[in-house]
Amino acid sequence: MTRAGVYTRISDDRDGSAAGVQRQEADCRELAERKGWAVAEVYIDNDVSAYSGKPRLGYNRLLADLEAGVVDAVVVWHLDRLHRSPAELEHFFEVVDRAGVKKLATVTGDVDLGTNDGRFHARILGAVARKESDDKSRRLRRKHLELAQAGKVSGGGRAFGWEADRVTLNLDEAELIREAARRVLAGETVRGVCADWNAREIKTVTGTAWSSTVLRRVLTAWRTCGVRSTGKDTGTTRAEPVAEAVWPAILDRTTIERLRSLLLDPHRRLNRSARRYLLTGMIRCRLCGAKLVARPRADKRRCYVCSTGPGFSGCGKIRTLSEPVEDLVIEAVMQRLDSPALAGALADLASGTGETDLGTDMADDERRLVELAEEWANGTITRAEWLVARNALESRLEASRRTLARTTRTSALDGFLGAQGTLRAAWPTLGLDRQRAVLAAVIDRVVIAPAVKGRSFFDPDRVDVVWRV
Ligand SMILES: [Zn+2]
Repeated sequence: MTRAGVYTRISDDRDGSAAGVQRQEADCRELAERKGWAVAEVYIDNDVSAYSGKPRLGYNRLLADLEAGVVDAVVVWHLDRLHRSPAELEHFFEVVDRAGVKKLATVTGDVDLGTNDGRFHARILGAVARKESDDKSRRLRRKHLELAQAGKVSGGGRAFGWEADRVTLNLDEAELIREAARRVLAGETVRGVCADWNAREIKTVTGTAWSSTVLRRVLTAWRTCGVRSTGKDTGTTRAEPVAEAVWPAILDRTTIERLRSLLLDPHRRLNRSARRYLLTGMIRCRLCGAKLVARPRADKRRCYVCSTGPGFSGCGKIRTLSEPVEDLVIEAVMQRLDSPALAGALADLASGTGETDLGTDMADDERRLVELAEEWANGTITRAEWLVARNALESRLEASRRTLARTTRTSALDGFLGAQGTLRAAWPTLGLDRQRAVLAAVIDRVVIAPAVKGRSFFDPDRVDVVWRV
């Protein structure tokens, strides 16, 4: 009785189920039964690419059993399951010659190992399998290439900052983009920059006036830092960077990352129409913790109030005139910024810690994520290895994003740090946005306590400033 060894292998065991191997085994057992062979042993290699070069334990055991005479026939689903290279096929021939084995059955057509024709046939099949595998890695390489080529210019009209070929820089517009980036990172709103540009009669590529939507798109586009991307930035999705583009960058990658975290943060986009005073968003009720809202009194004097009613979650028990609170907070910030220790700490935060490399690091990590997925796809690493490595990369990316957000906040203080009195001198000339950005860089929140009965004038004790740094 012929004792057959059944050999099965699946290369891309993506979902971890051995379904492919089980199907191969079932087919092989059926074939063995038709031939009247007894299946003595089943050799399985799962999740190992034929060309990965990793040792195949099942295959090696099969060869050993052939040499030892444990099995005297081999049933395999297809020759491409068995051999990874012509050299391996020749080695297989040597083993079966030494063992005197002549029976090799495949579900896709028998090969007579005893004849030159049979071997020729096996070599051809092997070559075909090899080519298929080459095609597969070529497909992967092509995917790589496509990713790289994705850096090519895509179709579309002229992009602001470049000429009509979408590659040559338009130097004037590029400088305008840099100006807008500086201003927005320093705390001005996109809307404010648009208003200024429209007043200066700067036009969009279509010759129209600037809107926040259009300028925000320019300032957050990967294109602007010379990176090709896929997908779109919407309320719920983000365009993903894909490759270095062939066109030159106008802003560096870190700046784009900052602008994106600043301008695409969904929380920022809420309540844009709400009235804003200097401390709106930073000032809170001591009693209920709600954010106080800006609201003028009947006599037009500005107030912050803890508001109840539709759309508000406050307790309604706090109200304070804005001006004295703002004056107090501004003075506190001036004094805090003038303290050399704080200025030093902020300067470290803003420029130390290799923050300028952050964008590059993040780009590297994103590229590694893609490479990792491809290694998994072509079987070089297992799913478990992929998951472990991916999680590590993703938590590092997350940490980088947090650092970026922090340093973006402190960039509002650029030029005001380490130079005593500069902020105090410049304060009256700064716009509301810029002033708010400066305060937000150092203040976590301002808490207002209820008024104490009997104190008719503004009571500084009601104000508690909680510092961020
Ligand atoms: Zn309240």
